[in-house]
Formats: sequence, C-alpha cells, structure tokens
Amino acid sequence: FDVEDLKNYLENCTDSENMLQTREISYSTKNARKIWINERVRKIEGHDQYFLVCENITERYELSKELNYRASHDYLTGLKNRLFFENQLDNTLKQIEKNRMPCCLMYLDMDKFKIINDTCGHHAGDEVLRQIATILTDCVPTTSMVARLGGDEFAIILPDIELVDAEIYAQKIIVEIGKHYFLWEGHNFTLGISIGLAEVTDFLRGGIHALSCVDSACYSAKQSGRNRIH
Ligand code: GH3
Ligand code: MG
Repeated sequence: FDVEDLKNYLENCTDSENMLQTREISYSTKNARKIWINERVRKIEGHDQYFLVCENITERYELSKELNYRASHDYLTGLKNRLFFENQLDNTLKQIEKNRMPCCLMYLDMDKFKIINDTCGHHAGDEVLRQIATILTDCVPTTSMVARLGGDEFAIILPDIELVDAEIYAQKIIVEIGKHYFLWEGHNFTLGISIGLAEVTDFLRGGIHALSCVDSACYSAKQSGRNRIH
C-alpha cells in the first residue's frame, strides 16, 4: 500500500464498513520462495491507529491457479484443450465479423498413429504426441493458437493470415513432421499428418461448425492418400 494514500482513503471513509482496504500480493521469502499474502488494513475508529491483518493464502492461490490451468490445457502436451479452443474460435469468429480480418483454421490428425501404440505401447504414443505438439507450435506464428482436441487430433487458429500463407505453414508442418524420426527402444518410426485447412469466414455458424468443416477437409486429405493438405 502507499501509506499516504491509504491514510487519506481510510480517514475520509464515512461508513465504518468501508474503513477497510484489502489486497492480495506476492512476496519473496529469504530463500527466494514466492508466497501470496492477503492483507487487510482497517482504521481503528476514534484513534490514529491502523490494524493490519496478513493471511498466508499461498496454498489456496496456487490451487486455484492450477485448477484454472487444468481447465484450459491438455494434461499430456500442455497445449490448449478442446473446450478452451472452441471458446476461442467463437471469439475469433466474432472478431473477424467486426474487423474484417482474414483468419485460417487447421485440423490435423496423425497418420497411422495406432501402429506406434500397438508396437511400443501407450507411453511411446504419448511421447510422440508431446513431440508433435512442439513441432506444431514451432511451425506457426506465435500469434496462433495450437490445441490438442483429443487422441491424435490437433487444431490451429491462424489469426490475420490469408489462405495462401496458411498453406505455406501447413506445408512446413508436413515437411518438419516428415523429417522427424521417432526412436523408441530400438524401433524407428517415420511420422505423417493429414491436414484440413480453410479460411474462416463469417458465414460459418459458430466455432463448432467451423471445426466440423475443417474436420471434413482433414478426412478428405486422409482419403486421398494421407500426409497432405486438403
Ligand atoms: P489414421 O491414419 O486413419 O488417422 O489412423 P490412426 O492409426 O492415426 O488412428 P486414429 O486417428 O483413427 O485414432 C487415433 C488413436 O490414438 C486411437 C487411440 O488408440 C489413440 N489415442 C487416443 N488418445 C491417446 C492418448 O492420449 N495417448 C496415446 N498414446 N494414444 C491415444
Ligand atoms: Mg490418426
């Protein structure tokens, strides 16, 4: 608190209920640990004295941060999860309607991913999904939102990107994943991914509809031979 501001505020309070200032603030302990404190300052009525109560809320603060993180992120890859992504897509659709900016959407599904699970087990498959998440994030601009929708399915929103440029990013993803060999206990796998790509326009009826359009495009990419963009 700024002491002078605080004194002025508390002295000018007419209602005793309001003679209280409160805040949550972080401090560093001597051994550089971050702790969160809830501080409440009250003026003692009729006296030139103030009463400060400090409560250590670190555990509650960290738990609520953790719960917020888990609600919006995929536990395996750390990417955004489907729920968060769909909400974000709805917001993006509203924005493009208002600002007339281009925006593209990708739906990606790993090719023959089950072979890795079947040959080397789920742990190996999980590791592939984490590596793919890193490749996808590295291939697109930092303004993009990359999410894991579930299983071996991912999606990316590319705001302010025209279709021709989005196609270059999609091609880059295919090349980078194609160059990436996955090694696990003596097994060596090449990887591939099929991509459905579309420019998002305001005639799409909400995020879920937009996503189902690129999902169909991804299905077409699979049908025409996999490891390609449709
Ligand atoms: P396709 O080329 O047609 O896409 O075939 P695919 O083998 O990639 O299989 P498909 O996309 O139809 O299914 C994805 C599989 O991913 C199904 C499931 O066994 C596996 N899977 C789903 N979630 C997880 C997970 O969290 N970890 C691992 N390791 N595997 C998962
Ligand atoms: Mg697949």
